[in-house]
Amino acid sequence: MRRYLVAGNWKMNGSRQANAALVEKTVAGLARCSDVEVLVCPPAVYLESVGQAVRGTPVRLGAQNLSDRDAPGAFTGEVHGAMLREMQCEYVIVGHSERRALYGETDEVVARKFRAAQSLGLTPILCVGETLAQREANETEAVLERQLEAVVQLCEVAALARAVVAYEPVWAIGTGRTATPQQAQEAHAFLRAQVASRDARIAAALRVLYGGSVNSGNAAALFAGPDVDGGLIGGASLKADEFLSICAAAQAQVTR
Ligand code: PEP
Repeated sequence: MRRYLVAGNWKMNGSRQANAALVEKTVAGLARCSDVEVLVCPPAVYLESVGQAVRGTPVRLGAQNLSDRDAPGAFTGEVHGAMLREMQCEYVIVGHSERRALYGETDEVVARKFRAAQSLGLTPILCVGETLAQREANETEAVLERQLEAVVQLCEVAALARAVVAYEPVWAIGTGRTATPQQAQEAHAFLRAQVASRDARIAAALRVLYGGSVNSGNAAALFAGPDVDGGLIGGASLKADEFLSICAAAQAQVTR
């Protein structure tokens, strides 16, 4: 059975009060989605309180970022993976396009973050995706290959057995402009084929999520793609009803 993952990336949003209400509503509505793995990734300062709120529920906890440094120390403002583990995080997003574009994270930095996450037992969710200009210039596959390759070069393909990949076209993130199911499927199939060229078994088991303006109206069509194993959800993960509908769309794929 395919194990869909639906991950909510709250980005820099939330408050103690809003988070508590969001988690309570989300957990209460998840009973109908028992075959889907559901994850929330709040801002780092809320990991402890959200972690407490989801403890004993099916909802997993993830972080949005981590330091690429091997050891804690004099790195003001950074958060080490060991600290995320202490907060009971299981997953961490690496290479989100906002980190790449706004904070200058290169493919090499992203690969080091991926390695740092795995060295501490965290499952990295590696985000890859092209800009609109790159898509229009027919460079989508080259960009995806380069971003994936940086991780494979540093960590070896075997590392992908303990990771998740998220295809997030930059032009679809937070824009309301979603990739068509066909565009998503094509990119996912390409990513899986890249991995398969090195290790077919790892490729077959790899979960590739789609992210970019997923909502309750388009989730079912996107998740129907044979290489789409769930979603990384930004804006819609901040509304419990929307997020639950997206989880239900994943569940429907499992039980169909
Ligand atoms: C994201 O933040 O990874 C994302 C996909 O955002 P949105 O769903 O809002 O486009």
